[in-house]
Amino acid sequence: MKFITDCMLGTLAKWLRILGYDTLYYRFIEDTALIQKALRTQRTLLTRDEEVFRKFKSPDKLLIRSDDVMNQLKQVIEEKKLEVGSQLFTRCVLCNTRLIRVDKEEIQHLVPEYVFKTQQEFSICNHCKKIYWKGTHRTRMIEKLKNLEESLKL
Ligand SMILES: [Zn+2]
Repeated sequence: MKFITDCMLGTLAKWLRILGYDTLYYRFIEDTALIQKALRTQRTLLTRDEEVFRKFKSPDKLLIRSDDVMNQLKQVIEEKKLEVGSQLFTRCVLCNTRLIRVDKEEIQHLVPEYVFKTQQEFSICNHCKKIYWKGTHRTRMIEKLKNLEESLKL
């Protein structure tokens, strides 16, 4: 399942990418362009905007109810029956590209020395060149997802 979100749902888009779901998000996009893009790329449209929701004639859509991002994510997971664990951290949160595992020697000059010394597994986004590793940031995200999973009614 692939997604596209409206401009108000940037953080939700980031979280869907963390789960590994292909998710397009544009900081600025006209409603009609958003709708066309969703249809053309056969994506499920996620929107906070009732008018956009109404205008989108495909059933592949979801009107997001909450302002809180974890509640938004919960709604998408429940209503679209998403998998939470299997594809975690396989996609770049910044640009949506699939990440590639790299040998740590290859990226030695690109990460802080402390990170290089303490981490073993790295992946890279070949599009925007961001490097990922299992830092404290990731641990916090996993905690949030665990809390979320406990509250799911699947
Ligand atoms: Zn990237």
